Amino acid sequence: MEVKQCDFCRMPYQGTGNKICGDCLLKLDEDFIEIREYLWEHDRAGIDEVSEATGVSRKSIMYLLKEERLTVGDESEPGSGILTCESCKRPIRTGRMCAGCKNEVMSAMQESIGAVVSKPKRRPEPVEEESFKGVAKLQLKGR
Ligand SMILES: [Zn+2]
Ligand SMILES: [Zn+2]
Repeated sequence: MEVKQCDFCRMPYQGTGNKICGDCLLKLDEDFIEIREYLWEHDRAGIDEVSEATGVSRKSIMYLLKEERLTVGDESEPGSGILTCESCKRPIRTGRMCAGCKNEVMSAMQESIGAVVSKPKRRPEPVEEESFKGVAKLQLKGR
């Protein structure tokens, strides 16, 4: 097994295919459930309110937003700058990049792959994302 650095706590861990270590994975799942329960009763609460009421750290909430498990704001008010595109710095509502930059990265990746690798013989297996399965996106208030 390969030693990786956890994307959340920055500690080294034995790689398991996830970006974060097992402890953080569990913790974030628990945090997500807390937030989900709170938002069921308090629709579109603000991040500070959710953090205070559930005891979930802002860091966890931001991570869940970047993992696209939560969204913030609405179309007319895209997150109020809480979350910005890592490439063009435009405000976004979920994830790490805006749709435009995501597309650019995707097509750039496809081009570079196409340049070095010939057609794969068979379709690659779809990646199982167990922890994200069946998880509805939750909406937080922009401000
Ligand atoms: Zn960790
Ligand atoms: Zn962008």
